[in-house]
Amino acid sequence: MQGLMMNSQLLISGILQFAERNYPNQEIVSVTADNPYHRYTYKDCFKRTRQLANVLATLGATFGDRIGTLAWNDYRHLELYYAVSGSGMICHTINPKLYPEQIAYIINHAHDKVLFVDLLVMPLIEKLQEHLSQVESIVVMTDQAHMPQTSLTNVFCYETLLAGEPDTFSWPDFSENTASSMCYTSGTTGHPKGVLYSHRSTLLHSFASALPDCLGSSSTEVCMPIVPMFHVNAWGLPYTNVMTGTKLVFPGPKMIDPTVLHTLITKENVTCSAGVPTIWMVLLDYLDKSGLKVPSLNRVISGGAACPRSIVERFERDYDTALVQAWGMTETSPLGTAFHIKGTNRDLEGEALTDLKCKQGRGVFGVEMKIVDENNQELPWDGEAFGALKVRGPWVCSGYYGMSHTPGAEGCPVEEDGWMNTGDVATIDAEGYMQITDRTKDVIKSGGEWVSSIDIENAAVTHPKVAEAAAIGRYHPKWTERPLLVVVPRPDTDLSKDELMDYLKAKLPKVSVPDDIQFQEQIPHTATGKINKLGLRKQYENYQFSE
Ligand code: ADP
Repeated sequence: MQGLMMNSQLLISGILQFAERNYPNQEIVSVTADNPYHRYTYKDCFKRTRQLANVLATLGATFGDRIGTLAWNDYRHLELYYAVSGSGMICHTINPKLYPEQIAYIINHAHDKVLFVDLLVMPLIEKLQEHLSQVESIVVMTDQAHMPQTSLTNVFCYETLLAGEPDTFSWPDFSENTASSMCYTSGTTGHPKGVLYSHRSTLLHSFASALPDCLGSSSTEVCMPIVPMFHVNAWGLPYTNVMTGTKLVFPGPKMIDPTVLHTLITKENVTCSAGVPTIWMVLLDYLDKSGLKVPSLNRVISGGAACPRSIVERFERDYDTALVQAWGMTETSPLGTAFHIKGTNRDLEGEALTDLKCKQGRGVFGVEMKIVDENNQELPWDGEAFGALKVRGPWVCSGYYGMSHTPGAEGCPVEEDGWMNTGDVATIDAEGYMQITDRTKDVIKSGGEWVSSIDIENAAVTHPKVAEAAAIGRYHPKWTERPLLVVVPRPDTDLSKDELMDYLKAKLPKVSVPDDIQFQEQIPHTATGKINKLGLRKQYENYQFSE
């Protein structure tokens, strides 16, 4: 017998319509390339979103077309999220910081029909134009006064187009399984691969993300997503936060400028923010140096890479800000786990509690997870056994755009057993807290033992003279691989190799103590702000440990 419930489709336009009716006066504040402080309400936003949907139709875009965006976090990008997906088109966010050849590949592979680009991205587009034969129109996300001189044809001004359209639009109804947005993974090997989210996956992900034991979201909060809107849809926050009527603060192109971040936090009373650990390190250093505080900020969400313990401790001890670590991937929308103490663990305190906070959190209902050994046999949840982390669920990718989605087939992320191998190695303890010990490709295989590069890095960054650290495995004639630690010392300090080596010997098991340390002024980062291990391995390609 079937249930007798309405089969309403879960559509992104539903979030928009609900928010418009229920939170018309909620605010959205943005920094943009053409305005250092823009402010308007949800009501203004959705009126313009309807105008934008009309613009898309006027530009000849129809249901199912891919609409590319190369933009930072701001109100116009938010309007695009809703106008494009609400119209049944696919909002394809592209990272402007990728290599130009990668950007051209991604735009062509996705067959983007229209590109919406930030003012600051125009010089890049001019360089790429001859490679973008399928793009019919380029819209510069600014007003007429700021339109750049350009030799390109088919270039339009966002505000001029909007002004020419009515603010009425009837959002179409269609299947919730329709694709809504897409994001290419940076792909450390081969070409980037397109992950295609659906309306259904996006809405289910938003419901889960808004739960108090997950990322949490409410109309009483002020959220500043620093994680870019081109990086897994800013971890879904532009959907989750609008669903719950949260005030949004967007730092635009200033997302790594701690002065601007601090101003936005204090002026707008930001209660919650989200970003990669590098951002938190930059913000904390700025606060420490300036003596400034962030009294409204009650929690920051950290994901994308392991969060060093020092960041957890500094936020909590010096700024009374909780750090919520979350784990996920482009392929998982991205939410897989998030940290929140369980009611049954609430007596934990001190070091034991911090230990737990440094793990990647607990599973979220909707994503099943397990760890397996080399023979795909499930391993126990005892906090000791570690193995390949596998996941499945309604917001986990079943195949990449334009590639096979038959489980087990080449290029399909899902294995024959129906689970996706995340490429991460993890432990899960008896309480369900998961800890990433490494990425499969970053694990250092020393003799028969697996050494976690994350453990070494986390130990190194607790040294007061270390600003950043990355461990990579390098060839060793006896052990096959041994750890090499690359360190950026804090400015104006006199850190020596011996001092750091002694420190690490006291902190790490013998097998994890690096065989050598190299000092550098900088460590390369990927376009999403993570340490670029691939780049480091290349840099130290011919490195040999001395006898
Ligand atoms: P990429 O890093 O390849 O550009 P993603 O953004 O999808 O693509 O990265 C997903 C990966 O980032 C995960 O598989 C994991 O290795 C790492 N990651 C994400 N969150 C965390 C976290 N909280 N702790 C440790 N690693 C994390």
